[in-house]
Amino acid sequence: MNDILQEKTIIAGPCSAESLEQIQATMSALHEQGIKIFRAGVWKPRTRPGGFEGYGEQALKWLYDARQEFPDMKLATEVAKPEHIDLCIKYGIDIIWIGARTTASPFAMQDIADLFVKDPHLSEKFDTIYVKNPVNPDIELWIGAIERLQRAGVKNVEAIHRGFCLYDNSVYRNVPTWQIPIDLKKRIPGIKVICDPSHIGGKRDLIAPLCQQAIALGLDGLMVECHCDPDKALTDAKQQILPESFGYILNSIKRPFDSTMVETELASNDPSSIEEAVSMLTSVNDPDGKVALKVLRDKIDKIDDNIIYGLAERLKVCRNIAKVKVAHRLPVFQDKRYNEVLNKFKVRAGSVGLNEDLAESIFNAIHEESVREQTEIIKS
Ligand code: PEP
Ligand code: MN
Repeated sequence: MNDILQEKTIIAGPCSAESLEQIQATMSALHEQGIKIFRAGVWKPRTRPGGFEGYGEQALKWLYDARQEFPDMKLATEVAKPEHIDLCIKYGIDIIWIGARTTASPFAMQDIADLFVKDPHLSEKFDTIYVKNPVNPDIELWIGAIERLQRAGVKNVEAIHRGFCLYDNSVYRNVPTWQIPIDLKKRIPGIKVICDPSHIGGKRDLIAPLCQQAIALGLDGLMVECHCDPDKALTDAKQQILPESFGYILNSIKRPFDSTMVETELASNDPSSIEEAVSMLTSVNDPDGKVALKVLRDKIDKIDDNIIYGLAERLKVCRNIAKVKVAHRLPVFQDKRYNEVLNKFKVRAGSVGLNEDLAESIFNAIHEESVREQTEIIKS
């Protein structure tokens, strides 16, 4: 079994609970893949009216009944109102999540939070209460929803990153904007954030690379929509995958090849640096390494430009020094100063892991050029 199942929180199951048979078939196939948390939506918030809105309490009963066969399977579902939470308790749901549309509504969030204020032991009935990010890329709204629960005394709050809705999402159904979940981790130290690649990607072939990216970035788990017959799903059919496919994806996930590098990149506040870490570490997305090479070569080009600008700047200063030397009849070459500067250059080089001999030859090349220029100025 893939050890990722031990290290990370892995949740899988259909977008919606559709029948007892669909739940049983999907749960059993996921159980076979080693998955121990089963998700299924029973109240489906639809952006437009008229769609399938979930089977509600009847579906909770299906979940309860299907779990009898797999007692080690935890059950997870979405809640949007206080009444939903009461029903989840009645049917032994272990984990609940607040959906993206609910997180975006402070009134709805406060109604839910008030329930936890009324009953201080209510949150203990659930292993985890997840808060998905709001549909819009507003970190304050996400933090606000989490805070409402925390202020109501809920300690087991975690977050789900499901991407953000923009008017024109070219590739993704909801753009990932990885900087936001990373910032959430910085703003609420210790909070766990799992990734929902299904609602980010919106299509099957994006699930594997998104799972890889989330793990490479150090997120704490995955929630992936799986269905025993994805094409026939009543909701989100295009993004649901077979339980066996998810097992395969979990087995193919590679760990970051250098975790210290990822940590350094993530510790910086530079969004391009985060994107760079993501692309470098995403070998699934980049089987022949072309993307990673381009990212790194662009970086090298920028560094080379800075070296050239730095050298030109240095030479300008040397020309001014030559003028001072002329005015005060000082020699161009002063060995004490030369030795001091060379020494400093080598020590600095050594302290950042550069070879000192290489540093010496670079310094000598630079110094030779400045002596040559100064001699020209003094002669003229
Ligand atoms: C879901 O998980 O099925 C769902 C509706 O997600 P979201 O709230 O992220 O749109
Ligand atoms: Mn869905």
